[in-house]
Amino acid sequence: MIDTGSGPREAGGLYQAIRKITDLPLVVVNTHAHGDHAFGNSYFAAHGVQDFYISAEAAEHLRERGEAERQLVRFLEPEMAMGKGEYSRILVPKNIVDESGVTLDLGSVTLEIFGRGQGHTGGDLLVRSGNILFTGDLVEQGGPPNFEDADPFAWSTLLGALEAECSSDTVVVPGHGHVVDKEFVGLQHREMIAAIREGQEIIASRPAGRFDPTAYQLQILPYGPEQSAIFLQRLVEIRP
Ligand SMILES: [Zn+2]
Repeated sequence: MIDTGSGPREAGGLYQAIRKITDLPLVVVNTHAHGDHAFGNSYFAAHGVQDFYISAEAAEHLRERGEAERQLVRFLEPEMAMGKGEYSRILVPKNIVDESGVTLDLGSVTLEIFGRGQGHTGGDLLVRSGNILFTGDLVEQGGPPNFEDADPFAWSTLLGALEAECSSDTVVVPGHGHVVDKEFVGLQHREMIAAIREGQEIIASRPAGRFDPTAYQLQILPYGPEQSAIFLQRLVEIRP
């Protein structure tokens, strides 16, 4: 099970869908610490899952900031947001995936779980099985990438490396949206490189000591007004 949803409601739906396909025991991988990927963990633990995998950075994020970030899921998972009701505890996985990665033999399927350092967050994990690559939110379809906890510089480099590793038959499963491919990863990569260039020009042109991008400046960037503002903020924070 790769990511567990925003809380018990989503996790319950996912669990039922899985149980229509298989009765086999499950292991969970959290690609990163964002609530919509990890707040369903308790539900899965209560339904027999013992092994949960995550990166060290994401485990720390969940431990230190998980409680404060409950509010992010308030519309989808009101009980989770309030920390009330069954399965609403934040469960931090114990199995830490370090730089050497983890290979899981699931019988007929082998999974490689690995990280590439910073990107969408401080520590995103990817999962590869044959020609299928699960990327978490390092790749996002149907909406702009989320830069809230991102290092856009590292992320764009990482996307370039991923594109190079993909072949024409690689099936890329993004953190949100529909299944995509190598070409899509390449587009997201080039878009981010161009956005970083634009963003650095915008930042260089700002009056000293303040930063308040204009609507026009936000429009130049490809990520919509809200994410583009966060994107610029992250550029400033990471390379002041
Ligand atoms: Zn995310």
